[in-house]
Amino acid sequence: MADLTTDVRYIKGIGEQRAKALGKLHIATLRDLISYFPRAYEDRSVRKAIRDLTDGETVCVEAMVAAPPTLSRVRKGLELVKLRVVDSTGTLDITFFNQAYQRDNLHTGETYTFYGKIEGTGRRKQMVNPIVEREGAHVLTGRIAPIYPLTAGITQSLLVKSIQQGLAACRDLLEDPLPDEVRRDHNLCHIHYAYDHVHFPESQETLAIARRRLVFEELFLLAIGLKKLRNRRAAVAVPPCTQTDLSPFYAALPFSLTLAQRRAIGETLSDLTSGRPMNRLVQGDVGSGKTMVAAAALYCAAQNGLQGALMAPTEILAEQHYRGLGPLLEGLGVRCALLTGSTPARQRRSILEQLATGEIQVVIGTHALISGDVTYCRLGLVVTDEQHRFGVGQRSALSAKGENPHLLVMSATPIPRTLALIIYGDLDVSVIDELPPGRQKVDTFAVDSSYRQRIYAFIRKLIQEGRQAYVICPMVEGNDAFPDDRKAVTAYAKALQEQVFPDLKIGYVHGKMKPKEKDAVMAAFSGGETDILVSTTVVEVGVDVPNAAVMLIENAERFGLSQLHQLRGRVGRGQHKSYCILLSDNQNPETRERLKVMTRTSDGFRIAEEDLRLRGPGDFFGQRQHGLPAMKIADLSCDMALLQEAQQAAADLLARDPQLTACPLTARRVRELFDENRDALN
Ligand code: ADP
Ligand code: MG
Repeated sequence: MADLTTDVRYIKGIGEQRAKALGKLHIATLRDLISYFPRAYEDRSVRKAIRDLTDGETVCVEAMVAAPPTLSRVRKGLELVKLRVVDSTGTLDITFFNQAYQRDNLHTGETYTFYGKIEGTGRRKQMVNPIVEREGAHVLTGRIAPIYPLTAGITQSLLVKSIQQGLAACRDLLEDPLPDEVRRDHNLCHIHYAYDHVHFPESQETLAIARRRLVFEELFLLAIGLKKLRNRRAAVAVPPCTQTDLSPFYAALPFSLTLAQRRAIGETLSDLTSGRPMNRLVQGDVGSGKTMVAAAALYCAAQNGLQGALMAPTEILAEQHYRGLGPLLEGLGVRCALLTGSTPARQRRSILEQLATGEIQVVIGTHALISGDVTYCRLGLVVTDEQHRFGVGQRSALSAKGENPHLLVMSATPIPRTLALIIYGDLDVSVIDELPPGRQKVDTFAVDSSYRQRIYAFIRKLIQEGRQAYVICPMVEGNDAFPDDRKAVTAYAKALQEQVFPDLKIGYVHGKMKPKEKDAVMAAFSGGETDILVSTTVVEVGVDVPNAAVMLIENAERFGLSQLHQLRGRVGRGQHKSYCILLSDNQNPETRERLKVMTRTSDGFRIAEEDLRLRGPGDFFGQRQHGLPAMKIADLSCDMALLQEAQQAAADLLARDPQLTACPLTARRVRELFDENRDALN
């Protein structure tokens, strides 16, 4: 007898080899198999007689093979199987490319269902590479068919058949992790119904019912897990910082802070004095002054005898922070140091020594901060900048160097609040929703390449006035995933130099360069030695060159809105009027609309919401580094309302039953889901 933990090899047709391939899809047991949900569906339920077929439609045709299929080798690597099929209303030609086995698969005089796209009209109708199924089988055709994500060695039809068998063997053993009253209160179907219809829906309606329930379940369990993590943190005690007088800090600043900055600092300091470890995300648009929140926190920690560490994802950024914060904090009597991969060995030794003794109170750096031989004295505050570039693992590696240190995360990717809850999980969020006064809006234009000469002339004029320019291209040379009409950075820089601006200094930088080379190029641009910097998105994060007043973005349609917004944030950082030009020849109305959004607003949160609406959360989840359980079925771009409902349900349940004693199954599933945090959730 099979149960949910039975190995997939139990399924007929799955042996050693296929089991291994399925392993790549994280399918090891029958439970994994039947919980492997389709990523899409194809409605193959429309069936037609041959006479009624029209050019271009995709349908099922039930027809008999009229004569033995022929196989011909047109040339090396191209084999054709051709056959003619008939029904009582007409004939249809079928062609298979490189599926030689179809010749022996299809027998004259027998009837099959063919699903595919019709080409041609009248007597000359044909179907190329249809899906074929024996008459009456209706697993792959004649229904709404599931489409599963595949891997080498695993086909759709194998998955369909295996999941059918898997469901037959053990669907009844599935236990419902949703408590009955939750299921009833939120109108959710039974788990068995949900599994049947998410794989093999009878209609769009049954599919919607099944999907809604499974999405709810996933988000509900996630919400419970996150709430428990949060509660657990609230149970850890650390020595509270004393209320620190910030007036020397404020007095040392060359500007007065915005209200939003003060509010975020207030929230941060109240965390530090709470006696619980802080776990806070500071979110704010580019240029909103997040660094000042970090500075205030580091100052407060130092006043309380705690060491602070600020980790940035690149050397450029670490140095930039050090240049800004170092003098400020040193001026207030706080000893600072910079530690990166390029810190010379002797200097590094001395820094490590002083870190271990506590002489250095604040260290700013890169991953170098978490290398094995770095020990801290009383590491009490960990700040990470641009957190989406760090994995949760790196964050906790730094935290592990202290004892429950306070954690402050700064992110420049504005994320709608609902999403932040998921992506940043158990972090509290401060939002800086105000820019320092006097910032000028970056004038933004979306144009096609008929404007190219005018754009170049405009850039030249600005450079003659003493400004600098960025040109952003979407790819790195030698990436064959893209056709060659996309402009490679190196080729582009060369052409620009030779054909457009022979008299100007042009530099280029891309992600495949060594950090040393990259830094040299950035330093040259930052120092005003180069006029134009051609770059990929590596300039996206935090780079600060106030003299750069114009950015040209090539193939702008290839970037997400939030990414365009990040990029645009590189200009308009000084007192000069600044411009951003989005160049795209893409005529797709949706693309044009997306780019228009950029010309209309400079509010990062609005742009993020728009991006979410237009593109889905892929951008935010792109790097999947948040360390939370992967979503099997929920899609946060369209399941947002359900997310809120599930979060509310989770909060209600935990309020009624904090230990989940009445629903042990729910508790167990949450623990399984958060495997790596298992202990934390007990
Ligand atoms: P981000 O939020 O993008 O990290 P930064 O902290 O780098 O922004 O700040 C951007 C620039 O604005 C820096 O040059 C910083 O010195 C300056 N700045 C920060 N806060 C203020 C303020 N309240 N008034 C004026 N300038 C400020
Ligand atoms: Mg920053």
